[in-house]
Amino acid sequence: MIRINSHYQKLQASYLFADIARRVAAFQARNPQQSLIRLGIGDVTQPLPAACIAALHKATDEMANASSFRGYGPEQGYDFLREAIAAYDFRARGAQVDADEIFVSDGAKSDTGNIQEIFAQDVRVAIPDPVYPVYVDTNVMAGRTEAAQDGRYPGFVYLDSTAANGYVPALPSEPVDLIYLCFPNNPTGATATRAQLAAWVEYARQNRALILFDAAYEAFIRDPDIPHSIYEIPGAREVAIEFRSFSKTAGFTGLRCAYTVVPKECMAWDDSGQAVPLHALWTRRHTTKFNGVSYPVQRAAEAVYSPEGQQQVHALVDGYLANARTIRSAFESMGFACTGGVNAPYVWIDTQRDAWEFFDLLLTRAGVVCTPGIGFGRCGQQHVRISAFNSAAQVEQALQRITRALS
Ligand SMILES: *Cc1c(COP(=O)(O)O)cnc(C)c1O
Repeated sequence: MIRINSHYQKLQASYLFADIARRVAAFQARNPQQSLIRLGIGDVTQPLPAACIAALHKATDEMANASSFRGYGPEQGYDFLREAIAAYDFRARGAQVDADEIFVSDGAKSDTGNIQEIFAQDVRVAIPDPVYPVYVDTNVMAGRTEAAQDGRYPGFVYLDSTAANGYVPALPSEPVDLIYLCFPNNPTGATATRAQLAAWVEYARQNRALILFDAAYEAFIRDPDIPHSIYEIPGAREVAIEFRSFSKTAGFTGLRCAYTVVPKECMAWDDSGQAVPLHALWTRRHTTKFNGVSYPVQRAAEAVYSPEGQQQVHALVDGYLANARTIRSAFESMGFACTGGVNAPYVWIDTQRDAWEFFDLLLTRAGVVCTPGIGFGRCGQQHVRISAFNSAAQVEQALQRITRALS
């Protein structure tokens, strides 16, 4: 008899996006004339930079000729891309990362989801709340928790991000082994200072723990004092793996390219207490279960680092950041406490009431769709996330409608 992985039955069905879709559809049916503006999405809306498109076309033509055709490439990615990443994303910022420590992949979702399988079943996992749900669900699937109770999984150590701590969680009061951190944060838009990251690195070093640092929104950082990489913190190479993606940086959500950094000094321990380099384990995992990102897509990612690519990506992100600033200041002038919206494409609004009630208010009175914070964890129960991923005109119009509806 073929049986299932019963840990899957512990997963809480994610009603969030289905619930949003149902409420939106019901509203549209009642109000067919009302145009809707969607500020709920965590997906980019603007087209790929011209430099990436040109590189894609060129690489596609290469694939059409026997002399320049490429079949299987290295699973970890082509050297041209790994070298460009090491030089521009790390060495240029004073962080030491070598090209052979970079694993190119099809997404930070897959990487942040897959990484947990190289760790022991009984590691204690620290999960921020609110959180990108991938970290939670993949550890539940792997059997590291009991079934959920009141929306939380016994077995995780939750790290609350609230107004009281500025949405940057404090160090845990009980021991943990694996720590997920995401800055700039989805959903809160909060960023971590150098001192805050240094405290986490120090914690990991003291406790032989490991930090999984998701920097998918790194390109949105404009404040020169905020670190872009965990490796800007001394000592982080021994205790941190970093995830990056071209998705939000360069509009690659539909093209698919990301990478993970596993420094050679990064260790975990085996059953006999022997230190094992995680670089070797992840190499084994990645080369066994993944066969590389397509050649044209890696050429498109490489083009992000060309002078034109850099200028175009910067302009793209600047557009979203301008939207984010406008959203935040509009809500602040209506008296709401907000975080994010600077150095991040999301604004996290303290609504002072139930998140779904506020969602319905924006939908029915302004025709604007946001994301209720409760979908990201218990700490989001009176927050909503507003996304800057839309055109300036749509954002402007949405804010006019909201201001009118709430005043
Ligand atoms: C969007 C996002 C990613 C990137 O996912 P891809 O699979 O690379 O598109 C990773 N982490 C967070 C928190 C995100 O919001």
